[in-house]
Amino acid sequence: ASVFDHLEQAPEDPILGITVAYNKDPHPGKVNLGVGAYRTEEGKPLILNVVRRAEERLLADRSKNKEYLPITGLADFNKRSAMLILGSDSPAVVEKRLVTAQCLSGTGSLRVGAEFLARHYGVKLVFLPTPTWGNHFKVFMNAGLAVKTYRYYDNKTRGLDYEGMLEDIGAAPSGSVILLHACAHNPTGVDPTPQQWEGIRQAIRNRGHLPFFDSAYQGFASGSLDKDALAVRTFVADGGECFIAQSFAKNMGLYGERVGALSIVSKSSGVATRVESQLKLVIRPMYSNPPIHGASIVALVLGDGDLFSEWTVELKGMADRIISMRHKLYDALRARGTPGDWTHILKQIGMFSFTGLNKEQVQFMTREYRIYMTLDGRISMAGLSLKTVPLLADAIHAAVT
Ligand code: PLP
Repeated sequence: ASVFDHLEQAPEDPILGITVAYNKDPHPGKVNLGVGAYRTEEGKPLILNVVRRAEERLLADRSKNKEYLPITGLADFNKRSAMLILGSDSPAVVEKRLVTAQCLSGTGSLRVGAEFLARHYGVKLVFLPTPTWGNHFKVFMNAGLAVKTYRYYDNKTRGLDYEGMLEDIGAAPSGSVILLHACAHNPTGVDPTPQQWEGIRQAIRNRGHLPFFDSAYQGFASGSLDKDALAVRTFVADGGECFIAQSFAKNMGLYGERVGALSIVSKSSGVATRVESQLKLVIRPMYSNPPIHGASIVALVLGDGDLFSEWTVELKGMADRIISMRHKLYDALRARGTPGDWTHILKQIGMFSFTGLNKEQVQFMTREYRIYMTLDGRISMAGLSLKTVPLLADAIHAAVT
């Protein structure tokens, strides 16, 4: 008998499990719209040219080695990542009121932030939007925080439930942690307007809550790095505290390199220094220090004017292809006379479209059309191409009629 005989078979991860099912399907015409990773028009993963150039430089540089990084990672990467999200003239940067630690992509940055809060923050309660990226629940619960939700998406309008969101933020116990998607809300693709962000900021500050931004799509949503950082900058500009988890998975195509950063913005440089000392104590027993390769790529790209401008062009290219897929899908549905209002496909932002299709319709589309997507009706626009749009439109048309 095994010491693990008592173990039950665990279910697949609801998102990553879609790829497992997709891979098992022998049909040549199958389409995977479940995965949150960019694909080219040919359906292939993309390595950015600027990443290849940075890697070639790293390889050629004989002064580079593979020694351990410090506990908080590559200093140059940390500095430049913070400046990318906050802006180089941000008062928090200038006044040295923040600490940044290189972590294992967005997820690892969220998780380290959650561990830090569980150990050092008084209110052990975090509010997540409904709906949200499924992993948020587990990341915070596993760190020992209680998790509740606030209203975010309105099914009826397929837009933001702004009033509901403000009400729930106002009713949350003072000092609660409020998780916010910095841009391109996953899975809905619905973001607040700049005016609404200002209202949300006031509601959060009035109650003394602690905002925690998840920034997984900077530059990937609109094609502009600055525009996609607006919400975070609105909060940091008021001088208050906040947490920011940054990922370079999507915007630099570094998924498997696991490059990200956690920034904690404090009210003084003295506090920031003490925060950093405690952050190291949180990280050291978890994984000691982060990996060097991906962070070296990002530091090079962010630090070199030539590479940086090439990156912004390639980034915009990815964002634009996604936006063009929204138009193609919308047009294809109109051409078929598919019942319903599909303008939300055009209005939504970022990698995903929250179609409004229900679980039964999704299962029908997977069974009959071999289109793989999450059961909440979310499709990855980044996984679509001119070739697969007609098939998806046929499937949606058949599912709703
Ligand atoms: N947060 C959100 C909202 C996401 O959509 C994702 C990726 O899908 C992540 C965080 C984390 O991604 P990663 O850990 O690969 O950076």
